[in-house]
Amino acid sequence: MTASLNPAAAAAAGFVEKAPLERYRPPAKPSLVGLSRVALAEALAAVGVPPAQRKMRLQQLWHWIYVRGATAFDQMTSVSKELRATLERHFTLARPEVVAEQVSVDGTRKWLLRLPGEGRDAGGHEVESVYIPEADRGTLCVSSQVGCTLTCSFCHTGTQRLVRNLTAGEIVGQIMVARDRLGDWLGAERLRAPGLPTPSLPSPASGGGKGGGRFVSNIVMMGMGEPLYNFEAVRDALQVVADGDGIAISKRRITLSTSGVVPNIARAGAEIGCMLAVSLHAVRDELRSELVPLNRKYPIAELLAACRNYPGLSNARRITFEYVMLKGVNDDLADAKALVQLLKGIPAKINLIPFNPWPDTKYECSDWERIEEFSEIIFNAGYASPVRTPRGRDILAACGQLKSATEKLSARERLALRAMAMTD
Ligand code: SAH
Ligand code: SF4
Repeated sequence: MTASLNPAAAAAAGFVEKAPLERYRPPAKPSLVGLSRVALAEALAAVGVPPAQRKMRLQQLWHWIYVRGATAFDQMTSVSKELRATLERHFTLARPEVVAEQVSVDGTRKWLLRLPGEGRDAGGHEVESVYIPEADRGTLCVSSQVGCTLTCSFCHTGTQRLVRNLTAGEIVGQIMVARDRLGDWLGAERLRAPGLPTPSLPSPASGGGKGGGRFVSNIVMMGMGEPLYNFEAVRDALQVVADGDGIAISKRRITLSTSGVVPNIARAGAEIGCMLAVSLHAVRDELRSELVPLNRKYPIAELLAACRNYPGLSNARRITFEYVMLKGVNDDLADAKALVQLLKGIPAKINLIPFNPWPDTKYECSDWERIEEFSEIIFNAGYASPVRTPRGRDILAACGQLKSATEKLSARERLALRAMAMTD
């Protein structure tokens, strides 16, 4: 926003969208992690792999990177020594740097990751990934931006500046890190994270089971940032993650959460095809515009129309509507009834998220009884409305050990809660 912008025009524009302060600058030796098949083929061409060999080499590399989790070209024993040396000269297999790891007694794990920054942030930026194991699945909550473009009033990320978009490599990298740390690669079982209290980690589901034989079986794009405002990188990353010859997490096991970037909802359906979660949080435009200012640009009716048209929507593929429980703000029982009315005809799940407070917030979490009553109305109307018992509380309490800033502490807490709320 420039100072010259007339206030009436600003009000009509309706909400303030932050512009990224930084652009990612690739290092001299880029990582191959997160490149699409096309980009990887181009990388092979650029280092002189002859056209006739490219397809085969690409398949080999894809397997080593995404099935075996290779961290060095030397490990790629089926690739010729000469090509390994060439790749080593030009590329790396680097993932985001793990700065800290916390493991809860209930098996929840959090990784604090450092990504490159510039200027006053030359020391790097930090984002988090949270892993939540359950009996039949393991869900990883992934970030898409450092900070966020938007300014939702109940969200701590919304009060921070948008620093930059993550690259596809940094998004895929979060899954790579989780699999590295969990020993979740084919053939890596014997290397499985020494020192980690594995008893708290349920066994991966057997081959044909829901988890597909891996610890990380589900992805939720619910970490920091608005994924639909970093559309291309998120799309490209999720295509890599869903590729059946690699990480192979099916699109039905990938859920993208959006605050309601309407034009990109249809694009997400067409170009990604993953499951959708929508941060609704209110049933009236006036209140939703206060909570989620993007609503001034894309009001509830437009948002729900985009949901109704989401490709592939069916009772087996429902949209999840997220609803953060804010005491005295959106938790009137009449709101629960209105919510049910509003969503009529849309194959939906409703996820009630207990509000996670942060310093200086004006909101409070609804009382537990109120959350239960609210949930019951929704349940009686025929919707699943899970409210989850918080996971990983013990490591949240210890968050201060990761970084002293209390700001960060609450951001982490929120992240864990979000992931926790989405593991139904
Ligand atoms: N930007 C996207 C995805 C990340 S936020 C979105 O807004 O959907 C993931 C979920 O956590 C969203 O539903 C968001 O509204 C919710 N959330 C944000 N701050 C929260 C808080 N303090 N307590 C509980 N949920 C919160
Ligand atoms: Fe951004 Fe989502 Fe937070 Fe809104 S709720 S500020 S869109 S991360």
